Amino acid sequence: MIYPFFTFLFAALNHITSVPSRLEITDPEAIKTKKAFQSTVRQDPVKEMVELKSKIPDIEYDLKYATKNNFTGKRLYPSSLKKTFLRKPVCEALQQVQDSLRKKGLGLKIFDAYRPYSVTIKMWETVRDEKYVANPVKGSNHNRGTAVDLTIIHLKSRQELNMGTGFDHFSDSAHHSFTQLPEEILQNRNLLKNIMEYFGFRAYQEEWWHYSWPESERFELLDISFQKLAKWAKRNP
Ligand SMILES: [Zn+2]
Repeated sequence: MIYPFFTFLFAALNHITSVPSRLEITDPEAIKTKKAFQSTVRQDPVKEMVELKSKIPDIEYDLKYATKNNFTGKRLYPSSLKKTFLRKPVCEALQQVQDSLRKKGLGLKIFDAYRPYSVTIKMWETVRDEKYVANPVKGSNHNRGTAVDLTIIHLKSRQELNMGTGFDHFSDSAHHSFTQLPEEILQNRNLLKNIMEYFGFRAYQEEWWHYSWPESERFELLDISFQKLAKWAKRNP
């Protein structure tokens, strides 16, 4: 019965060599220096990080991680933070969303956009649930500058549309599939989802506020501070 044994051995070896280890699935190495970031932008100009208000002046910021008013109860960004960033094509798509909403007297409010990789590690230490917080092994599309957390506001009153739950409300009621909600809330969520998808974003089933850009893997994880990015954006308007 030598033959079945070798068949088994071959199958086992094949399995070992063809299945990558968890760390090899995606490279968790984030770009940390301005020089390395600059070099990627030189090779591929769409990788530019753009400050959102520089392109969309009437967009509203409520950057939750620059306050303690977030699920960690800790301030994770500098309290003085007044800028946030996304990759160039993602910012351009968001600009189109805002242009379209503006015609209805509405606009976007941003809770979070680019998030340095080191902050994702801090979040993971607080909530070890991949449904809600990116596992640092993979990194988050926020670290790539290709994901954004947002809602819709009335431009005149700056009031948020009722979405049924707040941002970072980690329960079923924040899921797109959760429909036991008043009609007005379902319509508001649908308005956001439809307009974001129309301009190319992808919704995330577990969080009504989170949208990401397709082909995010093309953009490296970044661990560059907001201050450094702001200086860089100033010199490269
Ligand atoms: Zn998000």
